[in-house]
Amino acid sequence: MSTLTTHHTADVASVMDVYRRHLSRGRARLAAMTGQVMEVASEGTKVWDADGKEYLDCGGYGVFLLGHRHPKVMEAVIEQIHRHPMATRILLEPAAARAAAALARITPPGLDMVHFVTSGAEATETAIKLARAHGKQRLISTTGGYHGKTTGALALTAKPFYQAPFRPLLPAEHVPYGDACALEKALEQGEAACVVVEPVQGEGGVILPPAGYLADVQRLCAAHGALFVLDEIQTGLGRLGTWWGATPEDVRPDVLLVGKNLSGGIIPVAAAVATKEAYAPFDRDPFLHTSTFAAAPVAMAAAAAAVTAIDEERLVERAADLGQTILHLLHQALAPLLGGAVVEIRGRGLLIGIELADEALAGELVLHLIEAGVLVNHSLNAHTVVRLTPPALLTASDLDRLAEAFTTAATALANATARKGI
Ligand code: PLP
Repeated sequence: MSTLTTHHTADVASVMDVYRRHLSRGRARLAAMTGQVMEVASEGTKVWDADGKEYLDCGGYGVFLLGHRHPKVMEAVIEQIHRHPMATRILLEPAAARAAAALARITPPGLDMVHFVTSGAEATETAIKLARAHGKQRLISTTGGYHGKTTGALALTAKPFYQAPFRPLLPAEHVPYGDACALEKALEQGEAACVVVEPVQGEGGVILPPAGYLADVQRLCAAHGALFVLDEIQTGLGRLGTWWGATPEDVRPDVLLVGKNLSGGIIPVAAAVATKEAYAPFDRDPFLHTSTFAAAPVAMAAAAAAVTAIDEERLVERAADLGQTILHLLHQALAPLLGGAVVEIRGRGLLIGIELADEALAGELVLHLIEAGVLVNHSLNAHTVVRLTPPALLTASDLDRLAEAFTTAATALANATARKGI
């Protein structure tokens, strides 16, 4: 990767300066805390910084199931760029048709209608608007839930810190996650609702609901005439070791939200996939909900290629197997800290959380891992939980490296906790 490391450390100072002057002083502060590492290149499971140091990418906020610059997605996107990257939007365009067919083929049966957007939050907005168009104004989501930060989606994202400066938001109720009885009570109390839940809460800190929860949500929504929106923006397309979080309980929501992995790690794209009944308002009038860059051919090429690559390379099964291996590896590496600095290690497939005793320890773990050459994330709604969303392409040597980095980080954390007397 030597050809990719033409940036010099001097560049870091000027980039920091531009961040401070034109992007965000807060982001510059964060970069300072993480050692001013500047990422400049990527391929497969790896990212390189400006000094040529290599990192194993187990973060990326859930975008890189296919790793970085997956060859099949790259090829499809480059071909589309050379031929027709943006559409006039007044004529038929085949890349959108291909992507919609590819997605409808692998979503639960009955979810046939696809509305493409550019970000996860816009997919949530699409679901909120579909619900309103059906006269279902009451919004219900769950405590700890994360559904995006545009003003509509933010009403569903249950974190006061993100909401406070922007109130009043759309009215929304948050019922305890994983508690079907609480949802039932809420549904009994008011008018027709739109219920939005995640199969596993990602940003909430990798929270797994009890078995049967999603099936209960579906049953309760049907019984109370509520629109059931399943937010699989983080969990979908194989992340959990199944095509969808909905798969194990054979759940079929009215609207399924997809994002992150749909991009193939290359071009931002997301979607709301609905049943014919739920989609009817947009089916009647295609101008009711539009956006200039939605379904741009270049994004459609990425989406279709990403779905095909996940399928052909059997990455769903691979995510399930790798997830088991990584959970085991983490338990071994962090064993000395369990019950002290580490409260719990949990996950499904390649969505894995390590809950620390406090936020500072979680921050320290992230920093030690960066130093050891592994990138992970914190959880936006649960700062005590360090999250891993690795690619389904990790090799045996990647796994060795992961184990080594966690063992090194565990030793450093053990020393820190001994100092603090935890
Ligand atoms: N929904 C879920 C479950 C998410 O995890 C996220 C992002 O992390 C979103 C919605 C929002 O997606 P985006 O950040 O692309 O707007």
